[in-house]
Amino acid sequence: MKALVKSKPQEGLWLCDVDQPVVGSDDVLVKIEKSAICGTDLHIYNWDEWAQNHIQPPRVIGHEFCGTLIECGENWKQLKRGITVSGEGHVVCGRCRNCMAGRRHLCRDTYGVGIERDGAFAEYLSIPGSNLWLADPAIDKNVLASFDPLGNATHTALSFDLLGEDVLITGAGPIGLMATAICRHAGARHIVVSDLNPYRLTLARKMGATRAINPQDIQLTDVMEKLGMAEGFDVGLEMSGSEQAFNQMVGSMIHGGKIALLGIQGEDTKIDWDKVVFNGLTIKGIYGREMYETWYKMSSMVLSGLDIGPSLTHQFHYTEFKKAFDLMREGLCGKVILNWD
Ligand code: NAD
Ligand code: ZN
Repeated sequence: MKALVKSKPQEGLWLCDVDQPVVGSDDVLVKIEKSAICGTDLHIYNWDEWAQNHIQPPRVIGHEFCGTLIECGENWKQLKRGITVSGEGHVVCGRCRNCMAGRRHLCRDTYGVGIERDGAFAEYLSIPGSNLWLADPAIDKNVLASFDPLGNATHTALSFDLLGEDVLITGAGPIGLMATAICRHAGARHIVVSDLNPYRLTLARKMGATRAINPQDIQLTDVMEKLGMAEGFDVGLEMSGSEQAFNQMVGSMIHGGKIALLGIQGEDTKIDWDKVVFNGLTIKGIYGREMYETWYKMSSMVLSGLDIGPSLTHQFHYTEFKKAFDLMREGLCGKVILNWD
């Protein structure tokens, strides 16, 4: 089969002919229709320090996908073939305390599809049957291929009560954009989104932001004043990974405000702990998606009118993957999808 492979320990990705993956007794085989490119895939493409520490070439990468279930291992014979599916990219141990209690997103020993196991940038993908999401056929396939990042956005945004609340989202990458639409759908009052990239700020407005601002040009305090917000943001969703953005957030929360932290901060990030302590802030770290409550929630939100369409900006045939990765590097995009048929 054709696959996009990290075949050498250097920058780049190579379109290769590889063996179709083996389907173990606990696995299922998916014929991929669409796969979406994640920031993680860009790290692997660029072969940065993170990628060098996590990827052992050769590796078929990619973990955001939708497709058709075509084969089931011995333990999954009850599943109907031919149905449309997506899937969870974190494989959990199943035995640790949290897994045993049903809190699989808190597993102490996860490994990743397209990282420690061959992934979805291929004509066929084998994953554990327990990681398969049986999709509602009414859901658009581009949206379904983006269920992994939409799940990050859903898990983060729904961590705290949003109804009637004022929300600050730092970072309007694909996940921040999707979170904007979720906050709107879930009944937030003001949603202020910050990013340095004007293309993405325009997208944030299309996703339902009350204000989308470049913090280098406009102070958050000015925006709050214009919106009539006297005391600060009730909920903060950190989705940039930027120390500066995180500190702006910590500094503009209401006393007792809640922050959900998805963005991966640099090693030496400093924050003003006095503000956290004396203002009584709650900071919750978010990893991945809740299995599978997040998947249920995002399906039901999409089926009841959540529209993430404007954040899915580009599509390419898989043979044009270089163009797709170049575009991601430039940042003049939301979600970028590769088509496999
Ligand atoms: P992305 O890199 O596409 O988006 C980040 C955005 O933040 C960019 O548009 C960038 O311009 C913006 N930004 C940079 N500096 C900023 C600043 N000072 N103020 C405001 N915005 C700023 O990333 P993404 O794919 O949307 O993911 C969002 C974040 O979440 C990233 O940090 C990513 O590593 C992280 N992530 C975490 C998980 C998890 O499970 N915890 C999963 C996926 C992604
Ligand atoms: Zn576990």
